[in-house]
Amino acid sequence: MIRRRFGNAAADVVVIGQGTWDLEKDPRATALAALRRGLDLGMTHIDTAEMYGSGEAESLVAEAIAGRRDEVFLVSKVLPENASRKGTIAACERSLARLRTDRLDGYLLHWPGDHPVAETIEAFEQLRRDGKILSWGVSNFDVPELEEVWRLAGARLACNQVLYHLQERAIEHAVIPWCEQHGVAVVAYSPFGSGAFPGARTKGGRVLQTIGRAHDATARQVALAYLLRNPAVFTIPKAGRADHVEDNAGAAGLRLSADEVALLERAFPRGRRPRELPTL
Ligand code: NAP
Repeated sequence: MIRRRFGNAAADVVVIGQGTWDLEKDPRATALAALRRGLDLGMTHIDTAEMYGSGEAESLVAEAIAGRRDEVFLVSKVLPENASRKGTIAACERSLARLRTDRLDGYLLHWPGDHPVAETIEAFEQLRRDGKILSWGVSNFDVPELEEVWRLAGARLACNQVLYHLQERAIEHAVIPWCEQHGVAVVAYSPFGSGAFPGARTKGGRVLQTIGRAHDATARQVALAYLLRNPAVFTIPKAGRADHVEDNAGAAGLRLSADEVALLERAFPRGRRPRELPTL
């Protein structure tokens, strides 16, 4: 599995990780097998959150990584409503307990909320000094909010986790360029559109199939390779089945030509910059 420097964090992280939203709704044994198969294939960036299944996803992750903690780049997220100075620290302690670990590799503010971000950053920095988190970042932040974090904390900001897939390319307008300029990793969530992946009979689906055939690759592998063409980008597809995990891992070595990228961009136009950052 290919690794890249994770923004300003002192870590090299695999380009294709594993999401866990709603994973607790899959049959438990199947979901555990999927996560473990992913680890075997080097998909060691595991993304979870206190929100997912109200903590159940974190408990599932704990079981999947038992005995393998050191292999994993483990990321969780604090809910905005908990993201006061004290609340962030308490939420982190709860996540650590559910994850049965003593540290997170990354801890993110799930989306901008009402607590001043300066307070959340103070808590992140406290957690970092205490060794409970090794790096921190944000999620669903647009450029003005990123600017504020940068003003407060500069290069402590490791990543921004944002919605990015072929049918939702809004972050290409300003968020990706900002992150590139500031050395901040972009983590593309819902890389398959979260259940709305283009079907084989759609116009876009046919383009994905055609490009895939030329590389002996699947449509989903082409979709991931499109996102990963940019060296600032990482991705965290969710798969509750081991065969899906294997398919996703297979995208790591796939390189698209400039012509193929252009074909995809015609089939899935970026559109104008929206007023608000799209989120899920
Ligand atoms: P996604 O990864 O875009 O899509 C997941 C769906 O694709 C599932 O139905 C999965 O099915 C299916 N799938 C995955 N690989 C497949 C394959 N190779 N072939 C066929 N189907 C496949 O959706 P997501 O869960 O919304 O996003 C990924 C992760 O991003 C989340 O799990 C979460 O960790 C993170 N996220 C973060 C935020 C945020 O606000 N920060 C928001 C949304 C998501 P199976 O499960 O049956 O395999």
